[in-house]
Amino acid sequence: MTPRDLPALTITELQHLLRAREVSPREAVEALHARIVEVDPQLGAYLSVDLDGALQAADAADTSLPLGGVPIAIKDVLNVAGQPCTCASRMLRNYISPYDATAVARLKQAGAIPFGKTNMDEFAMGSSNENSSVKPAHNPWDLSRVPGGSSGGSAAAVAADAAYGALGTDTGGSVRQPAAFCGIVGVKPSYGRVSRFGLVAFASSLDQAGPLTKTVRDSALLMNAIAGHDPQESTSLEAEVPDYTVALGRDIRGMRIGVAREHRAAPVDPQVQAAVDTALKHFSSLGAEIVEVSLPHTEYAVAVYYLIATAEASANLARFDGVRYGHRATGPKGLLDHYERTRAEGFGAEVKRRIILGTYVLSSGYYDAYYLRAQKVRELIRRDFAHVFTQVDAIVSPTAPTPAFRLGEHTADPMTMYLADIFTVPANLAGICGVSLPCGFADSEKGTRLPIGLQLLGKTLDEARLLQLGHAYEQSTEWHKERPRLATTAKEQLA
Ligand code: GLN
Repeated sequence: MTPRDLPALTITELQHLLRAREVSPREAVEALHARIVEVDPQLGAYLSVDLDGALQAADAADTSLPLGGVPIAIKDVLNVAGQPCTCASRMLRNYISPYDATAVARLKQAGAIPFGKTNMDEFAMGSSNENSSVKPAHNPWDLSRVPGGSSGGSAAAVAADAAYGALGTDTGGSVRQPAAFCGIVGVKPSYGRVSRFGLVAFASSLDQAGPLTKTVRDSALLMNAIAGHDPQESTSLEAEVPDYTVALGRDIRGMRIGVAREHRAAPVDPQVQAAVDTALKHFSSLGAEIVEVSLPHTEYAVAVYYLIATAEASANLARFDGVRYGHRATGPKGLLDHYERTRAEGFGAEVKRRIILGTYVLSSGYYDAYYLRAQKVRELIRRDFAHVFTQVDAIVSPTAPTPAFRLGEHTADPMTMYLADIFTVPANLAGICGVSLPCGFADSEKGTRLPIGLQLLGKTLDEARLLQLGHAYEQSTEWHKERPRLATTAKEQLA
């Protein structure tokens, strides 16, 4: 094992070498840093990297802890004490976190080393990472394509072996969809499973932090660290945290997997549909039973999501007023001018669009017609799932209707971008958990291979079962072993 080989390891593999003292945490950090220096100019996955801080933590790391000495990349929407936390926004360009988000603090308690803050759509609003105010991130499988979003930097870094694993956040698919586009595993925990303390809020009733990793087992390890009640976060659940690795490897015979009629009816790229159909056959061959189910309110989910998420965003982002945080316009002519120019200068176009939409749907006269009605339909969506989970253990669908699209392909038309969230947003609205894992490749017209993601949804707090199902699938297929050949093909890909 040379230092050049280290970044390709999974967390599990690295952990073994660290415990056996065949590799030191310092070597793990240095090797990863070298890889980041090598590939990140093409990828744009990182917004900041603190090598000295990570080396210090590495030298103090206790490798007997569950994640002892393992570097983990953190989406730039989660606070890491002493590090920048920009949310890829001009508004927070110079903001340094005064404290750790609970998810980050828990990683540290488990011995991990937060290393690098990853690129994202500004304030986690987007599906392509193109809304970053700093730079777009690129898909390591095809640099002319998006890595997905909003946790695009986290996904691109893990897929390109420029992170052993990462944290992202998922408000409407932002962990699962980039995981799908980059050919890795992503977990959206049930609402309340992982504390939101220190996660810069986008839509507080939907946001959850979750892992992006090369394997299901790695995600289970990160879930073991970050899940659990937090007295500092009133919506965090008090439920006990299982050891998410225990069920991995148990057979899945007799488990019932639902396929929703309404998902079948949605427009899906034929190569994606074929891969999902093959995956379902594979689950059958492992002894699971495939059952048709119905989620009748699916067609309203995107509309409901973009009303509720923008409403909550408009309230959450009111705090960026140039008084307490971040950017402040210079030489204001009075208070109103101060607010207006600070916010006009600090926020990008998509964030402004959402604040305007959210303010509109909450305004008197429109509140009942939009926001309140959306809340009612949200409840119907929640009931759809509650009913289906009396019949099945999990629901399988594509994670996204298409593989990764080209940079710029959808930027002129936000609606097409929003509509592509059809498979992911219902889980956030219902508060249930979801996993995306690699299930095949589509061929692009250019001849590049683009990963396809399979989504598993489970009832609230049933993450362990989804991981068990995902692991059974992963370990009996080869998809997770495929890696993009980044360094050699970068020039041709961009040509
Ligand atoms: N694509 C969705 C949006 O743009 C989801 C974002 C997220 O999960 N943070 O809002």
